[in-house]
Amino acid sequence: MKTIGFIGGMSWESSVVYYELANRKVRQMLGGFHSCQSIMYTVDFDPIQKLQHEDRWAELDTMMAQAAVRLERAGADIIVLCTNTMHLCEKAIMSSISIPFLHIAEATGQEIAKRGIDTIALLGTKFTMERDFYKGYLNDKFGIKVLIPNDEDRNTVHNIIYGELVQGQIKPDSRQKYVDIIAKLEAQDAQGVILGCTEIPLLISDADVNIPTFNTTQIHAEKAVEWALKH
Ligand code: GLU
Repeated sequence: MKTIGFIGGMSWESSVVYYELANRKVRQMLGGFHSCQSIMYTVDFDPIQKLQHEDRWAELDTMMAQAAVRLERAGADIIVLCTNTMHLCEKAIMSSISIPFLHIAEATGQEIAKRGIDTIALLGTKFTMERDFYKGYLNDKFGIKVLIPNDEDRNTVHNIIYGELVQGQIKPDSRQKYVDIIAKLEAQDAQGVILGCTEIPLLISDADVNIPTFNTTQIHAEKAVEWALKH
């Protein structure tokens, strides 16, 4: 088994889920006493979220690249960045390491394509919904059309992530707001919805909505394990 290097802490509410899902997947695939060989480097999220909202991405690039380098030096064979948003720093990370980087949109795109879906809704932070790094990846590599909520709904989704989910607050009212926003996107022909922030699956699951959900935390953690066991 290869060693997975997780960059965690963004937020730790979802990193802990990555850790658990990766171990469960290894147990499911190998049985017995097997568990996931891994290293997690966890950042302090406070300065990170400040820099994000101040649009200081060059500094974030450096921080993410340094985290990946630390994991490579510690013996990781692959880097898994446990957040959708921070894939904005993908290029800085990739150019600093010589081990593979498992892009969360690659893992998610493969699952969407497997289901034959060509139009998908995307919920995540405003960075993820509005910038091109995620939508563009799915469109260019998989030919998937990505729908995002309107301006007001994007603010709602974003504010619930930073104001509640990354702080471990799960509120029924906020779940209902997400359900209503997803229903609007379904009416615009979305055949599924990407839970494109690693904390959203703490709030929403398939049971809450009519269209299939793509849980990026689970998809990413499990693809990492499949890679580690195959190589
Ligand atoms: N975990 C979130 C994501 O998947 C948001 C926190 C962050 O800004 O990294 O995008």
